[in-house]
Amino acid sequence: MNALAPLPSGSWLGVLGGGQLGRMFCQAAQALGYRVAVLDPAPDGPAARVADQHLQAAYDDRAALEQLARRCVALTTEFENVPADSLQYLVRTRVTAPSARAVAIAQDRIQEKTWFQAAGVAVAAHAAIGSDADLSSCSPALFPGILKTSRLGYDGKGQVHVQDAAAGRAAFAQLQRVPCILEALQPLDHEISVIVVRGRNGQAVAYPAIRNRHRDGILAVSLCDGSVPADLAAEAGRLAMQVARHLDYHGVLCIEFFVLEGGRLLANEMAPRPHNSGHLTQDACLVSQFEHQARVLAGLPLGDTGLLCPAAMVNLLGDLWQGTEGEPVEPDWAAVLQVPGTRLHLYGKDAPRVGRKMGHVNILAPTAASLHERVAQVMGVLGLPHA
Ligand code: ADP
Ligand code: MG
Repeated sequence: MNALAPLPSGSWLGVLGGGQLGRMFCQAAQALGYRVAVLDPAPDGPAARVADQHLQAAYDDRAALEQLARRCVALTTEFENVPADSLQYLVRTRVTAPSARAVAIAQDRIQEKTWFQAAGVAVAAHAAIGSDADLSSCSPALFPGILKTSRLGYDGKGQVHVQDAAAGRAAFAQLQRVPCILEALQPLDHEISVIVVRGRNGQAVAYPAIRNRHRDGILAVSLCDGSVPADLAAEAGRLAMQVARHLDYHGVLCIEFFVLEGGRLLANEMAPRPHNSGHLTQDACLVSQFEHQARVLAGLPLGDTGLLCPAAMVNLLGDLWQGTEGEPVEPDWAAVLQVPGTRLHLYGKDAPRVGRKMGHVNILAPTAASLHERVAQVMGVLGLPHA
Protein backbone atom coordinates (compact mmCIF):
# COMPACT_ATOMS: atom_id res chain seq x y z
CA MET A 1 0.00 0.00 0.00
CA ASN A 2 1.22 3.52 -0.80
CA ALA A 3 2.30 4.88 2.61
CA LEU A 4 0.83 8.28 1.74
CA ALA A 5 -2.58 7.03 0.56
CA PRO A 6 -5.42 8.10 2.89
CA LEU A 7 -6.47 5.43 5.40
CA PRO A 8 -9.98 4.09 4.97
CA SER A 9 -12.44 4.81 7.78
CA GLY A 10 -12.47 2.11 10.44
CA SER A 11 -8.66 1.87 10.35
CA TRP A 12 -6.88 1.78 13.68
CA LEU A 13 -4.67 4.63 14.86
CA GLY A 14 -2.52 4.25 17.97
CA VAL A 15 -1.43 6.72 20.60
CA LEU A 16 1.27 6.37 23.23
CA GLY A 17 0.08 8.10 26.39
CA GLY A 18 -3.30 8.33 28.00
CA GLY A 19 -3.73 11.89 29.27
CA GLN A 20 -6.08 14.63 28.11
CA LEU A 21 -4.16 15.22 24.89
CA GLY A 22 -4.61 11.57 23.99
CA ARG A 23 -8.28 11.80 24.91
CA MET A 24 -8.91 14.78 22.63
CA PHE A 25 -6.91 13.07 19.87
CA CYS A 26 -9.14 9.97 20.22
CA GLN A 27 -12.28 12.07 20.01
CA ALA A 28 -11.08 13.90 16.89
CA ALA A 29 -9.89 10.70 15.19
CA GLN A 30 -13.17 8.96 15.98
CA ALA A 31 -15.10 11.87 14.48
CA LEU A 32 -13.28 11.07 11.23
CA GLY A 33 -14.38 7.44 11.49
CA TYR A 34 -11.13 5.94 12.77
CA ARG A 35 -10.66 3.64 15.73
CA VAL A 36 -8.03 4.36 18.33
CA ALA A 37 -5.90 2.17 20.56
CA VAL A 38 -4.23 3.79 23.56
CA LEU A 39 -1.12 2.52 25.33
CA ASP A 40 -1.17 3.82 28.90
CA PRO A 41 0.12 2.14 32.07
CA ALA A 42 -2.62 3.80 34.15
CA PRO A 43 -5.89 1.85 34.60
CA ASP A 44 -8.46 4.44 33.52
CA GLY A 45 -6.79 7.61 32.31
CA PRO A 46 -8.63 10.29 30.30
CA ALA A 47 -7.78 8.72 26.91
CA ALA A 48 -8.42 5.12 27.96
CA ARG A 49 -11.96 6.13 28.88
CA VAL A 50 -12.81 7.10 25.32
CA ALA A 51 -10.46 4.88 23.31
CA ASP A 52 -11.72 1.90 21.29
CA GLN A 53 -9.01 -0.17 22.92
CA HIS A 54 -6.79 0.37 25.95
CA LEU A 55 -3.54 -1.53 26.32
CA GLN A 56 -2.52 -1.18 29.92
CA ALA A 57 1.25 -1.62 29.88
CA ALA A 58 4.49 0.28 30.27
CA TYR A 59 5.63 2.42 27.32
CA ASP A 60 8.63 0.18 26.76
CA ASP A 61 6.74 -3.10 27.08
CA ARG A 62 7.76 -4.88 23.88
CA ALA A 63 4.79 -7.26 23.84
CA ALA A 64 2.36 -4.35 24.17
CA LEU A 65 4.18 -2.37 21.47
CA GLU A 66 4.02 -5.41 19.23
CA GLN A 67 0.30 -5.73 19.85
CA LEU A 68 -0.16 -2.03 19.08
CA ALA A 69 1.84 -2.38 15.86
CA ARG A 70 -0.22 -5.40 14.78
CA ARG A 71 -3.46 -3.50 15.22
CA CYS A 72 -2.62 0.08 14.21
CA VAL A 73 -1.61 1.34 10.80
CA ALA A 74 -0.23 4.63 12.10
CA LEU A 75 0.88 5.79 15.52
CA THR A 76 1.53 8.98 17.44
CA THR A 77 2.37 10.12 20.94
CA GLU A 78 0.60 12.53 23.21
CA PHE A 79 3.56 13.42 25.40
CA GLU A 80 7.25 13.86 24.76
CA ASN A 81 8.58 11.73 27.57
CA VAL A 82 7.55 8.49 25.98
CA PRO A 83 10.78 6.54 25.34
CA ALA A 84 12.04 7.53 21.89
CA ASP A 85 13.16 3.86 21.63
CA SER A 86 9.54 2.75 21.66
CA LEU A 87 8.75 4.96 18.67
CA GLN A 88 11.91 3.73 17.00
CA TYR A 89 10.65 0.19 17.50
CA LEU A 90 7.23 0.96 16.02
CA VAL A 91 8.59 2.84 13.02
CA ARG A 92 10.21 -0.34 11.71
CA THR A 93 6.82 -1.54 10.52
CA ARG A 94 4.40 1.36 10.96
CA VAL A 95 3.90 5.01 10.11
CA THR A 96 4.78 7.11 13.17
CA ALA A 97 4.36 10.84 13.40
CA PRO A 98 6.25 12.51 14.95
CA SER A 99 9.47 10.62 14.40
CA ALA A 100 11.51 9.16 17.24
CA ARG A 101 14.23 11.69 16.44
CA ALA A 102 11.91 14.70 16.78
CA VAL A 103 10.63 13.36 20.09
CA ALA A 104 14.18 12.76 21.33
CA ILE A 105 15.09 16.35 20.48
CA ALA A 106 12.03 17.78 22.24
CA GLN A 107 12.87 15.71 25.34
CA ASP A 108 16.13 17.54 25.87
CA ARG A 109 16.32 21.32 26.33
CA ILE A 110 19.94 21.46 25.17
CA GLN A 111 19.27 19.57 21.94
CA GLU A 112 16.14 21.63 21.42
CA LYS A 113 18.12 24.88 21.56
CA THR A 114 20.82 23.47 19.29
CA TRP A 115 18.20 22.55 16.71
CA PHE A 116 16.46 25.92 16.93
CA GLN A 117 19.77 27.62 16.21
CA ALA A 118 20.57 25.24 13.38
CA ALA A 119 17.20 26.15 11.87
CA GLY A 120 18.17 29.82 12.04
CA VAL A 121 15.99 30.70 15.03
CA ALA A 122 17.42 32.73 17.94
CA VAL A 123 17.31 31.37 21.51
CA ALA A 124 18.25 32.73 24.95
CA ALA A 125 21.95 32.73 25.85
CA HIS A 126 22.58 29.43 27.63
CA ALA A 127 25.14 26.83 28.71
CA ALA A 128 24.95 23.09 29.31
CA ILE A 129 25.63 22.30 32.97
CA GLY A 130 26.93 18.90 33.99
CA SER A 131 29.09 19.80 36.98
CA ASP A 132 29.85 22.50 39.54
CA ALA A 133 32.85 23.45 37.43
CA ASP A 134 30.56 24.24 34.48
CA LEU A 135 28.71 26.70 36.71
CA SER A 136 31.87 28.33 37.98
CA SER A 137 33.28 28.79 34.51
CA CYS A 138 30.18 29.95 32.65
CA SER A 139 29.81 33.48 31.37
CA PRO A 140 28.66 36.12 33.91
CA ALA A 141 26.18 37.19 31.21
CA LEU A 142 24.10 34.08 32.09
CA PHE A 143 23.26 35.57 35.53
CA PRO A 144 20.68 36.21 36.73
CA GLY A 145 19.46 33.07 35.10
CA ILE A 146 17.25 30.02 35.35
CA LEU A 147 18.78 26.60 35.95
CA LYS A 148 16.51 23.98 34.36
CA THR A 149 16.82 20.22 34.24
CA SER A 150 17.55 19.33 30.66
CA ARG A 151 14.95 16.59 30.65
CA LEU A 152 11.54 15.86 32.18
CA GLY A 153 10.64 19.42 33.21
CA TYR A 154 7.12 20.74 32.62
CA ASP A 155 4.78 23.38 34.00
CA GLY A 156 7.76 25.20 35.54
CA LYS A 157 8.90 22.09 37.43
CA GLY A 158 12.64 21.38 37.59
CA GLN A 159 13.56 25.07 37.39
CA VAL A 160 15.36 27.33 39.86
CA HIS A 161 16.08 31.04 39.49
CA VAL A 162 19.73 31.77 40.30
CA GLN A 163 21.46 35.09 40.86
CA ASP A 164 25.07 33.97 40.59
CA ALA A 165 27.35 30.93 40.26
CA ALA A 166 27.18 30.15 43.99
CA ALA A 167 23.37 30.08 43.88
CA GLY A 168 23.71 28.04 40.70
CA ARG A 169 25.76 25.40 42.47
CA ALA A 170 23.21 25.18 45.30
CA ALA A 171 20.40 24.87 42.75
CA PHE A 172 22.32 22.20 40.84
CA ALA A 173 22.58 20.15 44.06
CA GLN A 174 18.86 20.74 44.71
CA LEU A 175 18.13 19.38 41.20
CA GLN A 176 20.09 16.19 42.09
CA ARG A 177 22.97 17.11 39.75
CA VAL A 178 21.12 15.79 36.73
CA PRO A 179 22.18 17.34 33.40
CA CYS A 180 20.90 20.92 33.35
CA ILE A 181 20.82 24.02 31.20
CA LEU A 182 21.48 27.50 32.52
CA GLU A 183 19.58 30.17 30.64
CA ALA A 184 20.02 33.91 31.04
CA LEU A 185 16.84 35.45 32.44
CA GLN A 186 15.13 37.31 29.61
CA PRO A 187 13.22 40.58 29.86
CA LEU A 188 9.90 39.16 28.68
CA ASP A 189 7.23 41.43 27.35
CA HIS A 190 4.94 38.48 26.74
CA GLU A 191 4.89 34.88 25.50
CA ILE A 192 3.35 33.41 22.39
CA SER A 193 3.11 30.01 20.79
CA VAL A 194 2.72 28.89 17.23
CA ILE A 195 1.32 25.52 16.27
CA VAL A 196 2.45 24.13 12.95
CA VAL A 197 1.13 21.04 11.21
CA ARG A 198 3.28 19.30 8.63
CA GLY A 199 1.94 16.40 6.63
CA ARG A 200 3.88 13.33 5.59
CA ASN A 201 4.11 14.78 2.07
CA GLY A 202 5.73 17.98 3.39
CA GLN A 203 2.59 20.13 3.10
CA ALA A 204 2.55 22.51 6.08
CA VAL A 205 0.12 24.93 7.69
CA ALA A 206 0.35 27.13 10.79
CA TYR A 207 -2.29 28.39 13.19
CA PRO A 208 -2.26 32.07 14.13
CA ALA A 209 0.09 33.05 16.97
CA ILE A 210 -1.47 32.55 20.39
CA ARG A 211 -0.70 34.79 23.35
CA ASN A 212 -0.16 32.93 26.63
CA ARG A 213 -0.39 33.95 30.26
CA HIS A 214 1.03 31.65 32.93
CA ARG A 215 0.38 31.47 36.66
CA ASP A 216 2.83 29.65 38.95
CA GLY A 217 4.59 28.24 35.89
CA ILE A 218 1.38 26.71 34.49
CA LEU A 219 -0.49 28.01 31.47
CA ALA A 220 -3.53 29.93 32.74
CA VAL A 221 -5.05 31.69 29.73
CA SER A 222 -4.43 31.63 25.97
CA LEU A 223 -5.71 34.42 23.74
CA CYS A 224 -6.18 34.88 20.03
CA ASP A 225 -7.52 38.40 20.21
CA GLY A 226 -5.41 40.23 17.64
CA SER A 227 -3.14 41.58 20.39
CA VAL A 228 0.01 40.09 18.87
CA PRO A 229 1.20 42.67 16.31
CA ALA A 230 0.71 41.33 12.78
CA ASP A 231 4.38 41.54 11.77
CA LEU A 232 5.49 39.74 14.94
CA ALA A 233 2.85 37.04 14.48
CA ALA A 234 3.89 36.56 10.86
CA GLU A 235 7.56 36.33 11.83
CA ALA A 236 6.81 33.75 14.55
CA GLY A 237 4.77 31.73 12.05
CA ARG A 238 7.59 31.86 9.53
CA LEU A 239 10.17 30.76 12.12
CA ALA A 240 8.00 27.90 13.37
CA MET A 241 7.56 26.64 9.79
CA GLN A 242 11.32 26.91 9.34
CA VAL A 243 11.91 24.69 12.39
CA ALA A 244 9.35 22.11 11.20
CA ARG A 245 10.97 21.97 7.76
CA HIS A 246 14.46 21.78 9.19
CA LEU A 247 13.46 18.81 11.37
CA ASP A 248 11.58 17.25 8.45
CA TYR A 249 8.82 17.08 11.05
CA HIS A 250 5.59 15.17 10.51
CA GLY A 251 2.63 15.91 12.76
CA VAL A 252 1.60 18.74 15.07
CA LEU A 253 4.45 20.83 16.49
CA CYS A 254 4.14 23.70 18.95
CA ILE A 255 6.90 26.26 19.36
CA GLU A 256 6.83 28.56 22.39
CA PHE A 257 8.42 31.96 21.86
CA PHE A 258 9.47 34.71 24.21
CA VAL A 259 8.68 38.21 22.95
CA LEU A 260 11.26 40.44 24.58
CA GLU A 261 10.76 44.05 25.54
CA GLY A 262 11.55 45.75 22.23
CA GLY A 263 9.87 42.99 20.21
CA ARG A 264 12.72 40.50 19.64
CA LEU A 265 11.59 36.86 19.28
CA LEU A 266 13.42 33.99 20.95
CA ALA A 267 12.35 30.36 20.64
CA ASN A 268 11.89 28.85 24.11
CA GLU A 269 10.86 25.25 23.68
CA MET A 270 8.95 22.90 21.42
CA ALA A 271 6.32 20.24 21.99
CA PRO A 272 6.11 17.42 19.43
CA ARG A 273 2.33 17.15 19.80
CA PRO A 274 -0.80 19.25 20.26
CA HIS A 275 -0.28 21.87 22.96
CA ASN A 276 -2.38 23.25 25.79
CA SER A 277 -2.29 26.70 24.17
CA GLY A 278 -3.85 25.22 21.03
CA HIS A 279 -6.99 23.92 22.73
CA LEU A 280 -8.90 26.96 21.51
CA THR A 281 -8.54 25.58 17.96
CA GLN A 282 -11.21 23.03 18.95
CA ASP A 283 -13.87 25.71 18.78
CA ALA A 284 -12.26 28.71 17.08
CA CYS A 285 -10.93 26.97 13.96
CA LEU A 286 -12.58 24.78 11.38
CA VAL A 287 -9.97 22.04 11.94
CA SER A 288 -8.54 21.61 15.43
CA GLN A 289 -4.97 20.69 16.31
CA PHE A 290 -6.23 17.23 17.33
CA GLU A 291 -8.03 16.62 14.06
CA HIS A 292 -4.85 17.68 12.30
CA GLN A 293 -2.85 15.14 14.31
CA ALA A 294 -5.28 12.48 13.08
CA ARG A 295 -5.23 13.81 9.50
CA VAL A 296 -1.44 13.60 9.34
CA LEU A 297 -1.50 9.98 10.56
CA ALA A 298 -4.30 9.09 8.18
CA GLY A 299 -2.66 10.77 5.18
CA LEU A 300 -5.60 13.16 4.74
CA PRO A 301 -5.15 16.69 3.39
CA LEU A 302 -4.45 19.41 5.94
CA GLY A 303 -7.29 21.82 6.56
CA ASP A 304 -8.07 25.40 7.52
CA THR A 305 -6.09 26.91 10.38
CA GLY A 306 -7.60 30.39 10.22
CA LEU A 307 -9.35 31.83 13.26
CA LEU A 308 -13.13 32.05 12.82
CA CYS A 309 -13.41 34.80 15.45
CA PRO A 310 -11.53 36.17 18.47
CA ALA A 311 -11.07 33.34 20.99
CA ALA A 312 -9.59 32.46 24.36
CA MET A 313 -8.98 29.42 26.51
CA VAL A 314 -9.04 29.34 30.30
CA ASN A 315 -7.37 26.34 31.94
CA LEU A 316 -9.29 24.59 34.72
CA LEU A 317 -6.88 23.34 37.36
CA GLY A 318 -7.71 21.10 40.31
CA ASP A 319 -7.33 24.20 42.52
CA LEU A 320 -10.85 25.18 41.48
CA TRP A 321 -12.29 22.15 43.27
CA GLN A 322 -10.69 22.86 46.63
CA GLY A 323 -13.50 23.49 49.11
CA THR A 324 -13.10 24.66 52.69
CA GLU A 325 -14.06 21.30 54.22
CA GLY A 326 -11.34 19.28 52.48
CA GLU A 327 -13.87 17.53 50.21
CA PRO A 328 -13.63 18.54 46.53
CA VAL A 329 -16.44 20.82 45.40
CA GLU A 330 -17.31 20.88 41.70
CA PRO A 331 -17.23 24.37 40.18
CA ASP A 332 -20.50 25.87 38.97
CA TRP A 333 -20.37 24.87 35.30
CA ALA A 334 -23.88 26.13 34.67
CA ALA A 335 -22.74 29.62 35.66
CA VAL A 336 -19.72 29.34 33.35
CA LEU A 337 -21.88 28.19 30.44
CA GLN A 338 -24.29 31.03 31.11
CA VAL A 339 -21.60 33.33 29.72
CA PRO A 340 -22.21 33.67 25.98
CA GLY A 341 -19.70 32.04 23.61
CA THR A 342 -18.41 29.45 26.08
CA ARG A 343 -17.74 25.74 25.63
CA LEU A 344 -16.65 23.43 28.44
CA HIS A 345 -14.14 20.61 27.94
CA LEU A 346 -13.55 18.29 30.92
CA TYR A 347 -11.04 15.46 30.83
CA GLY A 348 -12.85 12.92 33.00
CA LYS A 349 -10.22 12.90 35.78
CA ASP A 350 -11.41 11.79 39.19
CA ALA A 351 -8.97 13.41 41.59
CA PRO A 352 -8.85 17.21 41.34
CA ARG A 353 -5.41 17.81 42.84
CA VAL A 354 -3.96 21.32 43.07
CA GLY A 355 -2.15 22.19 39.83
CA ARG A 356 -3.68 19.24 37.94
CA LYS A 357 -5.17 20.06 34.55
CA MET A 358 -8.83 18.98 34.80
CA GLY A 359 -10.29 20.71 31.76
CA HIS A 360 -10.58 24.02 29.94
CA VAL A 361 -13.17 26.51 28.80
CA ASN A 362 -13.01 27.90 25.29
CA ILE A 363 -14.53 31.32 24.84
CA LEU A 364 -15.50 32.89 21.51
CA ALA A 365 -16.75 36.39 20.76
CA PRO A 366 -17.42 38.60 17.76
CA THR A 367 -14.90 41.26 18.80
CA ALA A 368 -11.77 41.45 20.95
CA ALA A 369 -13.52 43.80 23.37
CA SER A 370 -16.43 41.44 23.94
CA LEU A 371 -13.99 38.52 24.21
CA HIS A 372 -12.17 40.28 27.04
CA GLU A 373 -15.47 40.93 28.77
CA ARG A 374 -16.48 37.28 28.48
CA VAL A 375 -13.09 36.05 29.71
CA ALA A 376 -13.42 38.37 32.72
CA GLN A 377 -16.92 37.01 33.37
CA VAL A 378 -15.74 33.39 33.24
CA MET A 379 -12.78 34.13 35.50
CA GLY A 380 -15.14 35.95 37.87
CA VAL A 381 -17.56 33.02 38.04
CA LEU A 382 -14.67 30.65 38.74
CA GLY A 383 -13.11 32.99 41.29
CA LEU A 384 -9.89 33.21 39.29
CA PRO A 385 -7.71 36.32 39.54
CA HIS A 386 -8.05 38.23 36.27
CA ALA A 387 -4.68 39.89 35.65
P1 ADP B 1 8.13 24.37 30.98
O1 ADP B 1 6.99 25.03 30.25
O2 ADP B 1 8.57 23.10 30.34
O3 ADP B 1 7.93 24.25 32.44
P2 ADP B 1 9.67 26.69 30.12
O4 ADP B 1 11.08 26.70 29.68
O5 ADP B 1 8.67 27.01 29.09
O6 ADP B 1 9.42 25.30 30.83
O7 ADP B 1 9.55 27.70 31.34
C1 ADP B 1 8.32 27.99 31.98
C2 ADP B 1 8.09 29.50 32.03
O8 ADP B 1 9.16 30.13 32.78
C3 ADP B 1 8.13 30.17 30.68
O9 ADP B 1 6.87 30.08 30.05
C4 ADP B 1 8.52 31.59 31.07
O10 ADP B 1 7.40 32.29 31.60
C5 ADP B 1 9.51 31.38 32.20
N1 ADP B 1 10.88 31.32 31.67
C6 ADP B 1 11.52 30.20 31.26
N2 ADP B 1 12.77 30.49 30.81
C7 ADP B 1 12.93 31.82 30.93
C8 ADP B 1 14.00 32.72 30.64
N3 ADP B 1 15.16 32.28 30.12
N4 ADP B 1 13.81 34.03 30.91
C9 ADP B 1 12.64 34.47 31.44
N5 ADP B 1 11.60 33.68 31.73
C10 ADP B 1 11.72 32.36 31.48
MG1 MG C 1 6.95 25.99 28.44
